[in-house]
Amino acid sequence: MDSPATGSPADLFEAENQSLLVARAAHAAFVEAEPTQCRQALGDLILAYERLLRETRRLVRRSDRAELEMNQLNTRLQELAAELEHRANHDPLTGVLNRAAVIELVNRRFTHEDLALIVLDIDHFKRINDSFGHPTGDKVILGVVACLQAVVPATAQIGRVGGEEFTVVLPRQSEAESERVAEGLRHAIETYNFDLPDGSGVTASFGISWAPSGGDFDSAYGLADEALYVAKRGGRNQVRIAASSLHPLQHEV
Ligand code: GH3
Ligand code: MG
Ligand code: MG
Repeated sequence: MDSPATGSPADLFEAENQSLLVARAAHAAFVEAEPTQCRQALGDLILAYERLLRETRRLVRRSDRAELEMNQLNTRLQELAAELEHRANHDPLTGVLNRAAVIELVNRRFTHEDLALIVLDIDHFKRINDSFGHPTGDKVILGVVACLQAVVPATAQIGRVGGEEFTVVLPRQSEAESERVAEGLRHAIETYNFDLPDGSGVTASFGISWAPSGGDFDSAYGLADEALYVAKRGGRNQVRIAASSLHPLQHEV
């Protein structure tokens, strides 16, 4: 588009300017001017105008193409940014929140509401890996997440905080309600068909903690993990509530 001689875009209109000058002169001297002179000036003006139209059309087409490409690149950029954010917060195998995202979520929600935290761990998972191989172990992990997703209430958030350890964050739920949810999860896993080669089932153990707003992930997780340990020690495939979450009349773990 730029003139190689000057590099100035104004050069684009040099021919048109020249034709205009001649046409103006012919117009001013119309009375005395030879008809051939007028005809020549008009012809040049038509040619210059046509060239200008062609150039303008070409420029508009090029600018439309550039705008389209820019919009497509912008859309792709937004998709990549969303994908990056998703990857940063989610577990690649199961698609649920990863540990860092669970910690951030719990600490953020605790600033303004009470929370119950359910921690669950698959029972004797090492046996599944050792007996049937790692890919079968992965399928069991996916099956457990399918059970969690089928049972948790809409307000709950599921996270994978370790290899075969998960959390369910329950905002604004009573301890009794959280225990009911955990029992539902335990039952869903116990009765799910994991299709293991020996036909055996899978179970998980659960610990629950509850705290009013103002709590934090470390203490909520620590309490739920203690309760989970008690559930493991008590024979696995059971739900336990952390001692400090219990009402005085309830039996402490
Ligand atoms: P417990 O009932 O006491 O929880 O026993 P466990 O066998 O489940 O616990 P342990 O901690 O001994 O074994 C957990 C195993 O989980 C060990 C590890 O190799 C396996 N694991 C961790 N992450 C993954 C994963 O992403 N895929 C598979 N297949 N296995 C995993
Ligand atoms: Mg385990
Ligand atoms: Mg574990």
